[in-house]
This record gives sequence, C-alpha cells and structure tokens, in this order.
Amino acid sequence: MAIERTFSILKPDATERNLTGAVNAVIEKAGLRIIAQRRIRMTRDQAETFYAVHKARPFFGELVDFMISGPVVVQVLEGEGAIAKYREVMGATDPAKAADGTIRKLYARSVGENSVHGSDAPETAAQEIAQFFSGNDIAG
Ligand code: UDP
Repeated sequence: MAIERTFSILKPDATERNLTGAVNAVIEKAGLRIIAQRRIRMTRDQAETFYAVHKARPFFGELVDFMISGPVVVQVLEGEGAIAKYREVMGATDPAKAADGTIRKLYARSVGENSVHGSDAPETAAQEIAQFFSGNDIAG
C-alpha cells in the first residue's frame, strides 16, 4: 500500500480535557507518524471554509460554534494507507457506534463533540492540509 498523508484535527473537547498526548499515543501506536502539528484557535471563517461541505446540514451552525469554542490541534499524519487507517483509528462519527479501542470510543462525548477529525479521501486530504500547512511546516 502507498504511503499517504492525511489531515487530522484534535477538536476543542479533546484539548479542553488535556487529551492531546493520549490521542497522539493512539495515533502513533497505530503506526501513523505525526509529521506536522500546531495548536491554534480557528477563526469562524476558517471553520466555515473547512466544513463548507456541510453548510446545508442542520448541525452546521452548532459545528462551527463548537470548532471555535476552544483551541484545536491541527496535524498532518503520514503512513501506509494513512487516510483509511486514521478513519479506522478514529472510529465511527457517533461514539456510541464506534469500535472498542478507537479514539472516539475512548474519548468522544457525543456525535458533535467527537474529539477528532480525519480526511475521508486523497483529494480532501490534500485540500485540508493546504488550508492549514505550507510545505515548510511539514517534516516527513
Ligand atoms: N456532526 C454533528 N452532527 C451530526 C453529524 C456530524 O455535529 O449529526 C459533526 C461531527 O463533529 C462530525 C462532523 O460534523 O465529526 C463532520 O461530519 P461527518 O459526517 O463528515 O463525520 P466524520 O467524517 O467527522 O466522521
């Protein structure tokens, strides 16, 4: 399988509970390498752009408010089949449906406050990485 890069966010519910290291331990144990990482506060504009695909969904406003409610950690992860692998490590969107050992099963509070984001395809991964990182920020 090819070496891929994917984009990850540790969401405000994770940073609030000081879970950056705990989530990163799950990521690294799964064989994914954190090749870029930065803690930021997203602007409303950044969050709306990032989740633009969900603009028409009823939860959009709540989601944007949540994403700017506290600091987040944005990351680039690298590894074999990193995009699908990270989706597996994250677990289902709804933590009640997430498999044992996944980040969302371990830490998510709810379907909205679900601790992590991970890209769902190569095109979105490239686009999301480019929204938050320049080439110089990434040390593969
Ligand atoms: N979300 C929500 N309510 C829903 C579905 C999604 O608040 O009913 C939020 C949740 O934080 C989720 C994000 O919107 O992670 C993006 O939704 P998506 O379906 O893309 O899930 P993901 O790819 O994050 O598992």
